[in-house]
Parts: sequence; C-alpha cells; structure tokens
Amino acid sequence: MEDLTADRAMGALLGLACGDALGRPVEFRSPTSIESQHGRLDELVGHGTHNQPAGTVTDDTDMMLCIARSLAETGDFDGADIAERFLGWYESGPFDIGIMTAQSIRAFRDGTAWDEAGRQVWEASAEGSNAGNGSVMRCVPHALAFGDDPARLVAVSRESSAITHADPRCTWGCALLNLVVAALVRDGAEPEAALDAALDRVRADAPAELVEAAEAVPTLDAGDLQNTGYVVTTVQAGLYHGLRADTAEDAIVDAVAMGGDADTIGAVAGAVAGARFGASALPDDWVETVAVAAECRDLAEALLALSGDE
Ligand SMILES: [Mg+2]
Repeated sequence: MEDLTADRAMGALLGLACGDALGRPVEFRSPTSIESQHGRLDELVGHGTHNQPAGTVTDDTDMMLCIARSLAETGDFDGADIAERFLGWYESGPFDIGIMTAQSIRAFRDGTAWDEAGRQVWEASAEGSNAGNGSVMRCVPHALAFGDDPARLVAVSRESSAITHADPRCTWGCALLNLVVAALVRDGAEPEAALDAALDRVRADAPAELVEAAEAVPTLDAGDLQNTGYVVTTVQAGLYHGLRADTAEDAIVDAVAMGGDADTIGAVAGAVAGARFGASALPDDWVETVAVAAECRDLAEALLALSGDE
C-alpha cells in the first residue's frame, strides 16, 4: 500500500476525531459567543459544553469507531454486528446522543431487526426532525473499506445509515460523502474532481435537495452555510470547509467556528480534510491530545487492507 494512501486513510478517521474534539466544548454555541470567549479556537480545550477534559470525543467519533471496529473484525459489512456495537455503546451511557439514534437503538434492543428499527423510527418522525446528521457524522470507515468498489460503497453506506437514519437525504448523504472521501484517499483526487465524480454517481437517484446543496459547494460563500443538525446543510458545510480550505487545520477550525452543531460539522469537515491532506498534516498537538488517535491509525490501515489492490 502506498504510504500517501495510508496517510490519507488515517487522516480521514483522525481528522474526524480532531474536528469532533475541537467542536465538543462549543457545541450549541453561536459563532459570536465562541469568538468572544476563545478568539480563533484552534486548540483542543477542556470543559465547556458537556464539561469534559481536552481531547474528549463525542458520539460522532464513538459511533465511527463502532463501525470501523466491526468492519475490521468481521472483514465485511455486517449490519447486525454494527447495530450490536451501537447498542453496547448506548448502554455505556454516552453524554451525547441524537434523538433518532437513541430511538432506533432502543427499538433494536427491544427486538426489532437491525434493518427495520431505523426505518420504523423514521416513518414515525415528522418532517423537520427526520433527517438529522447523525449518520453522516460516523459513516467514513466504509469509504476506506469499500473505496475500490463505488457501487458497493454506495449500497453499504446507505444500509449503514438506515440503521438509525433511513431518510433518503441521510442515506444518500452518507453515500455522497463516502464517494468523495474514497476518491481523495485512493486516487489522491483534486477536491473538485472528487466532488464531481461523486455527484455524477449519485445524481440520478439521490434527493435533489442534497445534490443541489453539494453542487453549490465550489461557488458558495461561507456566509451561506448553516450550523444546524440537518443532514443536507451539514454535508454542504463539511464539504465546503473540507474541500476548499487551504490546510487541514483551517478546514476544521473554520467548521467549528460556525458553532451550533459544531462537533459534528467539525467531524465531517475533518474527515474530508483529513482524507485530502493526510494525517501527517493535522496539528501535532491535536493528535497528541485526542485519546483515540492510535486506534484511528490502526483501524485505518486495517480497513484499507480490506479493499482491493489498485
Ligand atoms: Mg457529538
């Protein structure tokens, strides 16, 4: 395996964890409130929202690791195994968990099949609260394991999303994001080429709102982005910062500075920027502070080994 490819694969997982950890203390805050307290927030600080030590990650990274461990240990996509790992994490009492995620995991715990629980929760949820970013924040391990087979990557990304987030905007959001990450990691693609190739593959089938939001990424202004937990705006913001920033650090710092769902927007931007620039481009003091950094590296190598040779 080419060293640069491995560095980018590690960057995807580690960038996600760094964005999550940088954003965690300022989740739910406004951009002006973050700025007045921290100026440019470019260090992993402790306390703040959820009152945790510096470098603590949240549900975004925890659930990403559930998926990555499952893929690495089973050697393939096994939705029931991923759902079991989500349940184990849920029962550990995490300090941060999304509503649809909690509802779906409880339905699975109570006997609903792993590929039914998320759909039932989605069908019972009203527009406005049925398409959160809780699956795009965790989906990137699939891009490393199935990046050699884009059609399978799309199918697996959608199935994995639907364990908790079955709305087509969520399932296709995961597919689109993972296609971009796979092109960056495997091919070392230029940002716009990676986005164009991903859009070409999903355009005919994905919801128009998602496709249009991603198509706008190269021409948007940062002021057009939104910091809510809606999957379409999170994918757009994550791609915007991840693909357009000059450095991995800028991508993650600027994503977190948006506030609102800062940890998840930081995580998605971090996955994209890490895949683009590589783990070696992430600030050393972040990597040293993030508790799960070593496991992210090991899992990235294991997942790459699952995908076919170029
Ligand atoms: Mg979180």
